[in-house]
Amino acid sequence: MRIAVIASLLASAGLAAAEQYPQHDRNRPAPNVVVPGAVVSAPAPADAVVLFDGKDLAQWRSQKDKGAAPWKVADGAFEVVKGTGGIETARSFGDCQLHIEWTSPNPPVGTDQDRGNSGVFFMNIYELQVLDSYQAATYPDGQAGALYGQFPPLVNVSRPPGEWNAYDVVFRAPRFGPDGKLLKPARVTAFQNGVLIQDAQELLGPTTNKVRTPYSTHADKLPLSLQDHGHPVRFRNVWIRELPE
Ligand code: MG
Repeated sequence: MRIAVIASLLASAGLAAAEQYPQHDRNRPAPNVVVPGAVVSAPAPADAVVLFDGKDLAQWRSQKDKGAAPWKVADGAFEVVKGTGGIETARSFGDCQLHIEWTSPNPPVGTDQDRGNSGVFFMNIYELQVLDSYQAATYPDGQAGALYGQFPPLVNVSRPPGEWNAYDVVFRAPRFGPDGKLLKPARVTAFQNGVLIQDAQELLGPTTNKVRTPYSTHADKLPLSLQDHGHPVRFRNVWIRELPE
C-alpha cells in the first residue's frame, strides 16, 4: 500500500520513468522504430520569427565571442563547422514553438554518440538531441529526439543520413519563485517527422552529461542554441513562435 502511494506520487511528479533508469543506461529499452510518412517541411507562418530562411545566419551569433555565426551556409542550409563552437540566436526566447530541420552527414561517419551529433538547446540549457540514430545504436536517453540524459524519444522515427528530419517542438520554460525555488519544471512536447516523440515531458533539470544536476534559477528568456559536437550536421528552415503563458 505504502509503495503504491509513493509510486503514484512519483508518477504524478513525472519522475517515475527516470527514477527507474540511471543516466545513459544502455540496458534501458530502446524505443521502437517507426518509418515516417512523406517529408514534413512546414513553411513559417505569418507570426513566426524566421531564424533561417536559406540565405544567411543574420539571426545567429557565435556562442564563444558573440560575433558573427561562424558556420557554413550553402544550398539553402547551414552546417556545423567543427571547432568553432555552438551558435545561438541573437534574440532570447522563453515559451515557444520551434520548427527546425536537420540532416546527418552522408555517408555516415563514426558510431554511437560520435555519429552526426549536434543538438537543439532551449534557453542554452535544455537539449533536444540531434544524432544519426538511423540503424545506429547508442544509449536511449542519448539518441535522436531524446531530452538528453533524461528521456528517450517515444519512438525512433529517424530518416537515413542525407535525408531531412523535422522537429516541431513546444517548449515551456521552467518557472522560479523570487527566492530561486523551482515552481514548475520545463516541459517539452515534440514531433519528429510528424510523429510524437515527447509528450508534455517534464525535465528533471538542466542538460548534463554523466551527472544529473538540479535546476538553478535563470532568466525568463534566453537564446536558443545549436551544438557543435564536431560533426558536419546540416540545418534548414528554422522558425520560432513565442507563446503566451
Ligand atoms: Mg548533442
